[in-house]
Amino acid sequence: MSAVQKPRQDRAERAVRGMTGIPEGSKFLGFIPVDWRYDLTERFPGLRRVLRSRWTSFLLQLITASVFAVALVAGFIGTPVGNANLLVVLVWIFWWSALMLIMVPFFSRIWCALCPLPSAGEWLQRRAFVKKRQGKGLTLGKRWPAALRNMWPVNLIFLGMALFSGILTTRTTVTAWLLLGMVLGAIVISLIFERRTFCRYLCPVGGFLGLYSNMATMEIRHNVYSVCRDHKHKECVVGTNEAYACPWMEAPTTMARNTYCGFCFECFRTCSKDNMSVRLRPPGTDLLVNKNRGLDEAWKAFIMLGAAAIYAAVMMGPWGTLKDWANMTSVGGYLVYASSLALTVMVVVPAVWGAFVWLGRKLSGADVPFVRLFTNLSYSLVPIGMLAWIAFSFAIILPNWAYIPRVISDPFGWGWDLFGTAGVEWNPVGMRVMPILQVAALLFGLAFSIDVAWKIARQTLGDDRKASLATIPPVIFLAGVTGLFTWLLVG
Ligand code: SF4
Ligand code: SF4
Repeated sequence: MSAVQKPRQDRAERAVRGMTGIPEGSKFLGFIPVDWRYDLTERFPGLRRVLRSRWTSFLLQLITASVFAVALVAGFIGTPVGNANLLVVLVWIFWWSALMLIMVPFFSRIWCALCPLPSAGEWLQRRAFVKKRQGKGLTLGKRWPAALRNMWPVNLIFLGMALFSGILTTRTTVTAWLLLGMVLGAIVISLIFERRTFCRYLCPVGGFLGLYSNMATMEIRHNVYSVCRDHKHKECVVGTNEAYACPWMEAPTTMARNTYCGFCFECFRTCSKDNMSVRLRPPGTDLLVNKNRGLDEAWKAFIMLGAAAIYAAVMMGPWGTLKDWANMTSVGGYLVYASSLALTVMVVVPAVWGAFVWLGRKLSGADVPFVRLFTNLSYSLVPIGMLAWIAFSFAIILPNWAYIPRVISDPFGWGWDLFGTAGVEWNPVGMRVMPILQVAALLFGLAFSIDVAWKIARQTLGDDRKASLATIPPVIFLAGVTGLFTWLLVG
């Protein structure tokens, strides 16, 4: 580590400690060293140059938008057989697995830097592809209503989408209409509202990306706090002639969590002090940041946990009737499925979790308000929820990977063989080790969640003994959830 780097890192760590309440001298965040940061932009100056270039974002978006356009056409005019259609295979096998197994855990919201959905709206809004154009953009530039500046809209939109997951993942045109609808929605929103309002407040994918990116091993943060503090003209917040103010309406100088940072790297372009960094860090660091926690994000955690269990039951369980209901083979059956899903994720999971938190509060004799303890402890559901989705995703990619090379050569299912891979045999890999990987993922999620629950309880209650007592019932809940997922996925 260079002499310059160490003091900078010290200051960054002190800022993290300040927000998480981790006492000086405490070296570990659970089993992970809290002090550890690896500043990629400082170690590799070439990376900073790449990120500062306006071309980087444009080219990435152009590539994904081009592939997306072809896939969308395949969705509308290609074969209706899901596993032979580029759109379904690209979105529900390749993208989903890459997102949950690689992008979110390791690279936070890097997907949002690549995502083609908001590109058209953003280019229209800016009236530019690469260089910043001076003057007013093509937008009314309105601010999103204050009452809706939270995760409730995405929670409800995600729920609405989740109700149709059975047909979404199998029927090509349904996926195509959904994605086209999102592109059009993003355009309309960008013409009315400022910057990436759609991404921040409305994208159903963005909600869980945001919450689970708290677990990620990568972050974008300011480097030296005093540089930001003393820089009166906050370029990253207001923009410059060459670059835009943070498109996600974050204040990069004080940003403490990954939740709403879209990894667009615009703050690298605005900051004349080169004070923004991309750093590797221990996973889950943001879960202990005691700032801006809320019930909206807690409900996001409940929805994702409940949805993972229901999807595992529908897609991997032996219950044919449940599959039929989710696939809308009968109106009555579908209504039972949809209402049970909505009730489970919005009411049952929060209520059961609430009962366990309430017991813990009683047991510990804690005098903090129940809602505060409930909200704070809900963030401990993030590790187990994310690892459950990871375990689920193993069962998506390992048996089905062969469809990917097949549709690359024959995107529309019309019998083409563009790259000589259309004939790749269906050939599941790793089926023997898959249950081991899934159980290992779930156990890791359980251990991580227990650790986070205890740390949050200590942070909220300010007392080790009370924290231990308050954590006992939530740990029982977490163990039960782990057992349920093990049964659904492996049992
Ligand atoms: S928030 Fe949604 S639409 Fe916006 S970049 Fe991320 S995934 Fe794409
Ligand atoms: S802080 Fe804002 S400008 Fe910087 S990378 Fe994140 S979203 Fe982009």
